[in-house]
Amino acid sequence: MMNIRWISALVLAVCLAAIAIPAAEPGKTKVLVVTGGHGFEREPFLDLFARNPDIAFTHAAHSGTNATVYEREDLLSYDVLVLYDMPKNITENQRSKFLSLLDRGTGLVVLHHALVSFQKWPDYEGIIGGRYPEGSSSSGAVTPAVGYEHDVDVPVTIVARDHPITAGLRDFTIHDEIYWGFRVGADVTPLLSTTHPRSGRPLAWTRAQSNSRIVYLQLGHDRQAFENPNFRQLVARSIGWAARPDGGITR
Ligand SMILES: [Zn+2]
Repeated sequence: MMNIRWISALVLAVCLAAIAIPAAEPGKTKVLVVTGGHGFEREPFLDLFARNPDIAFTHAAHSGTNATVYEREDLLSYDVLVLYDMPKNITENQRSKFLSLLDRGTGLVVLHHALVSFQKWPDYEGIIGGRYPEGSSSSGAVTPAVGYEHDVDVPVTIVARDHPITAGLRDFTIHDEIYWGFRVGADVTPLLSTTHPRSGRPLAWTRAQSNSRIVYLQLGHDRQAFENPNFRQLVARSIGWAARPDGGITR
């Protein structure tokens, strides 16, 4: 018969083992959702990931004005990072950690205002395939050349009808924020566009960098976008595609 002390030790060992085992769930894509540097509607945004049965996600926010999330010990354990952040600066150490994600093949799903991040790091534009330039004017200034407008009914057209992220989707309208004046790299594959006269285009694209698949979606300002079923599907499919379950690199 086991004595009490032995049983207590066994229970303690089981508890410690449970704590030590990471939260990864077999068969699920491991996702790190990154925020910080820009406000957002937390609950409806995180619901996008909480209700996705194919992923196990962790939410992390940068602290201060640089990209502290890239200093996480577990950074390279994720299949995909979702960037919904807008940090101004990135230290040299954080930059090298960011680049190590691309060597490893971690997928990046870059959403909405993350097109504005790291204005002083030119390589970021090349990696994600575009840039909303703040220019010399103060952050948030709207001009005819570069700007944004909230609460717009945006007609979205599917450009890439055979791409895994957009295949089978129909053109739709979403109540969201538009940007104009953003730059887009020549080497991206456009997925979505719009007929809205003031919006920049395309509204979504993919590219590959090093071993990583990268998706950018311009949509996604607030709950009116988060609750749109087409947006939800685009985010979920982008994560699935960027996770590269087939192991191949294609655009
Ligand atoms: Zn916004």
